[in-house]
Amino acid sequence: MSFCGKSGERLPWFVRPDSLTANGDHAIVIAPGLVSIEAVRIEHTYELLIVRHELRAAKEGARPRISSRLVFRAWQGQLPLDLVEKDRSVAGKIAPEFFTWAGEPRQLPAQFVEAVHAIVVAVNCRNCGHAHLLVEPKPPLVTVPPVTSSAQMETLQDKRANSAPSTTDSMASAVV
Ligand SMILES: [Zn+2]
Repeated sequence: MSFCGKSGERLPWFVRPDSLTANGDHAIVIAPGLVSIEAVRIEHTYELLIVRHELRAAKEGARPRISSRLVFRAWQGQLPLDLVEKDRSVAGKIAPEFFTWAGEPRQLPAQFVEAVHAIVVAVNCRNCGHAHLLVEPKPPLVTVPPVTSSAQMETLQDKRANSAPSTTDSMASAVV
């Protein structure tokens, strides 16, 4: 199970806690709205659940509540490939095929196809401890004082070079 943004975009994790077990939390994400992508695999058969979660304001001063809405649910999807070894090259590019009761193929919601591909990789990953869908957060912007450009540096060096003889002159004149 992992999370993406409301439009299927990849979200940065907040922290990645280390865990003693393979099934511990791999990463924690914080956002006002999320979509959970959950998959279960038994050999070549998959179940998939996509749910949108949003914070809804309750009464003033009260904590907002989580509102969840089903986006897609399907089971007995088929992907007769070995994504662990033999067919590893297509891992991350493929999803199981799900069908209606009438046997017609069901389309995955287009904006979540990439997220489903990532979660399919995750359920085929042995002893998984990765964040297959979340991404590394960008480093925080650090405010640094403006860097002196090389041209300015040269000018400064020139000034020092120019001032040096005058110092020598004044010293020399003092000696004299
Ligand atoms: Zn993994």
